[in-house]
Amino acid sequence: MFFPILEGQPFNQPAGKIVCVGRNYAEHARELNNPIPSQPILFIKPADAAVAMAPSFSVPDGQGAVHHELEIAVLIGQRLCQATEHEVLAAMAGVGLGLDLTLRDVQDGLKAKGQPWEIAKAFDGACPLSDFVDASTVDNWQQLSLTLVRNGRIQQQGNSADMLFPIVPLIAHMSRIFTLNPGDIIMTGTPAGVGPLLPGDELEASLQDWLTVRCRVGDAG
Ligand code: ZN
Repeated sequence: MFFPILEGQPFNQPAGKIVCVGRNYAEHARELNNPIPSQPILFIKPADAAVAMAPSFSVPDGQGAVHHELEIAVLIGQRLCQATEHEVLAAMAGVGLGLDLTLRDVQDGLKAKGQPWEIAKAFDGACPLSDFVDASTVDNWQQLSLTLVRNGRIQQQGNSADMLFPIVPLIAHMSRIFTLNPGDIIMTGTPAGVGPLLPGDELEASLQDWLTVRCRVGDAG
């Protein structure tokens, strides 16, 4: 069981389900030769996908490429069902970073066969998470920059301004399909620059100047 860390303290609920959106940045959809979606592409990782990003996390072995997708993560603090955007704003407890780890070769095989993505994206440990800063720190959800440096080179750099589906209305939309509960986490999509992770990689992930996470990719778990 993983408890998100909010402002240095374990959150009062363990991590619940992780509701994710695919292809929320046009540049990333293009880099994987995917069409630009007209509706959010949603999927879920279960609670056991949540692990701490720092000091290290492990990646699966022997299943082809494991890609990093750095994303802005939102920690939900209050139940949301059929929520308005106003209710979403009131229910957001924290903002942080997550890695939507993706077995890209496995996913490509599943996509080719028209099968669901779960085994490529929802395995145990598939969502390393940073600590969260209080959501009240955010004055504009569509002006948040995120950066991933891998082994000293900038790999991903984005801004929520470039999202196809902005965070607050996206979460309201999600709540019309899935009731969101305290401890649930929203992954808001990845900017361009995804690529493989290898054991021994040193990562530095940052969100605005609020959070910088330094972590290492451990041996296969
Ligand atoms: Zn993703």
